Amino acid sequence: MTKPRLRIIPLGGLSEIGKNMMVMEYEDDIIIIDAGLMFPDEEMLGIDLVIPDISYLLEKREKIRGIIITHGHEDHIGALPYLLPQLDAPIYSTKLTHGLISVKLKERKALSEAKLRVIPPDGNFTLGEFKVEFFPVCHSIPDSVGLIIHTPVGTIVHSGDFKLDYTPVSGKPTDLSRLAQLGAQGVLLLLSDSTYAELPGYTPSERVVGETLEHIMADAPGRVIVTTFSSLVSRIQQVIDSAAKYQRRVFIVGQSMSDTARMALELGYLNAPDGILARLDELKGMPRNKVVLVTTGSQGEPTSALVRMANRDHRQVHILRGDTVVISATPIPGNEGLINRTVDNLFKQGAQVLYGKVAQVHVHGHASQEELKLLLNLVKPKFFVPIHGEYRHLSLHAQLAQSVGIPKDNTFILEDGDVLEISPETSKITGKITSGNVYVDGLSVGDIGSVVIRNRRMLSRDGIVVVIIAVNKQTGKLVGRPDIVSRGFVDTRESKDMLDESRDLVARTLDHSGDRPAEWSFINTKVRDILNKFYYEQTKRRPMILPFMVKV
Ligand SMILES: [Zn+2]
Ligand SMILES: [Zn+2]
Repeated sequence: MTKPRLRIIPLGGLSEIGKNMMVMEYEDDIIIIDAGLMFPDEEMLGIDLVIPDISYLLEKREKIRGIIITHGHEDHIGALPYLLPQLDAPIYSTKLTHGLISVKLKERKALSEAKLRVIPPDGNFTLGEFKVEFFPVCHSIPDSVGLIIHTPVGTIVHSGDFKLDYTPVSGKPTDLSRLAQLGAQGVLLLLSDSTYAELPGYTPSERVVGETLEHIMADAPGRVIVTTFSSLVSRIQQVIDSAAKYQRRVFIVGQSMSDTARMALELGYLNAPDGILARLDELKGMPRNKVVLVTTGSQGEPTSALVRMANRDHRQVHILRGDTVVISATPIPGNEGLINRTVDNLFKQGAQVLYGKVAQVHVHGHASQEELKLLLNLVKPKFFVPIHGEYRHLSLHAQLAQSVGIPKDNTFILEDGDVLEISPETSKITGKITSGNVYVDGLSVGDIGSVVIRNRRMLSRDGIVVVIIAVNKQTGKLVGRPDIVSRGFVDTRESKDMLDESRDLVARTLDHSGDRPAEWSFINTKVRDILNKFYYEQTKRRPMILPFMVKV
């Protein structure tokens, strides 16, 4: 009889950036690591968020022992409010992560049923056959952890998102000694963050940003407006510290930024000297060189405070000549256009704008190549799976692993849905399960499939043509010429002749079908085919064609 194997199944975050979610399954026990969201790319028209497809888990709901969250970033917690009602499993995280999850769940009114467990950053707990141990890692949010998972087949190390900053602003440096100890005892599998596997060398310390911010606070002639992710608590701390040094008061603008700051202050992850934080109604009349505003909008999000300010659409704050705006964040791929437009608008309003390309106002929170190699060398795993990244990041990370002596055959580049089965001696990909994107659009989750997206794409590209065909109520026969209405397809005045011709074409085609009562499904297909062909010949465009029947 073959011994049971451990199954490692990524549901998100492999071959893509975001919506991280990993399943580990051993016999009757399943644990889930992270439940993140992804922001839509430009092709996903009108979609607000993307979350992982969890059909696989829904079939095995009774096996799920818990959801473990490594840290409080959106790409690790963002899907929880949508998935929790279906999964109903306890969530294990550190204190700050717990706080951020609570804020999220409350927004979606899903907090009351949630079972949230707080674990210290070096704590441990047991979930079925899995003994889970947290270890602190340094990342761009405090209270981040990696996982040591003791399983019946061996020890697994999951890095979470990490870097090796020896002088972090808040939170602890990555616990290297514990990892070295494990490496000496033998680790079966390492799963490690690949987000910045392209970058050679070491990721600079957060301290670098602190120094830049201090220079800005000292030199800026007017107000300083810093925008970053609301979850980047350490960056907010750096802003407060440098503002305090130059006697500037700090105004936190925007709902999500205020909520996070309040929560982080209460839990002690954010420290502000007395009297430094101010309310927005105190802004009027303050000398401009004594003011710092902290706000969201680093991704150019249309509803964020910064974008409103840039468009002169914010109720309380307008950009003034002499303001210095600091964009302290990396653009999430896909957001570059929105961000650039915001930067342009800020310059137009007379602000000085400092962002990644012109000043060191941000360092990212992920390990570069030398740090990744150091982790591999310390942990010395038998098998290696790069996680968190596009395919190229995973490939490069796999090459790094080979360069430090992990055999190619023991390195697995997985994609979402791949099933990796692992025993103490061997490991191989044995299959693929259902995985993919679930789209969140407004209030609805999951009812928008790829067909809807494809239709939206088609509409946005070549527009729509509605063909209105009248039939006699009694006889079912065609009445008159069909009507054609188009939107976003051609200039209806300039192309009047062409559209008229297409009307005639439809009329002729339908006449040909004889004087039998019109069969709708036949007419429908026929009209689409004939117009598709005609419009493509005339315009090289493929509008969406919608035949429509009215009974008269
Ligand atoms: Zn992260
Ligand atoms: Zn992440």
